[in-house]
Amino acid sequence: MDVLWAPWRMAYVGGPAGAGCIFCAALAGDARGRLVVCTTRDTVVMLNRYPYASGHLLVAPRRHTADLAGLAADEYADLAETLRRAAATLEHELRPQGMNLGMNLGAAAGAGVADHLHWHVVPRWIGDTNFMTTVAEARVMPQHLLDTYDRLRPAFERLDART
Ligand SMILES: [Zn+2]
Repeated sequence: MDVLWAPWRMAYVGGPAGAGCIFCAALAGDARGRLVVCTTRDTVVMLNRYPYASGHLLVAPRRHTADLAGLAADEYADLAETLRRAAATLEHELRPQGMNLGMNLGAAAGAGVADHLHWHVVPRWIGDTNFMTTVAEARVMPQHLLDTYDRLRPAFERLDART
């Protein structure tokens, strides 16, 4: 593994072994400590602790489920609307040149957390992978996670307030 810039990994390595679900744990804990930027009625938005790019968000239903088709209509509507607004907020705050939005359903599809479905929203800049290797865990991170959190949180407070 070739981690180019990831100071938060020390806390991870030194912390307790990960157990349970990161999304459910995030909803139960301190928002900043868990990197939760926004919660709506049915949806939680958090920074990915192991991001592919600065501002990499995860958008998940609050309910612990891996079953996309099994979401209630209003639950899915809230998820989709929050995804739309999360992408718009990143666009406004970070001014990326592009964005990847994707959902990996199941471990076979590459889901890191397969039991709790979630969207990835990854802002992209031309050249942002110039120094990345093909090693899966190599990351280039120009900005610390909490700096990103503090930058995005005020913008996302407007999403919190909408419900
Ligand atoms: Zn969960």
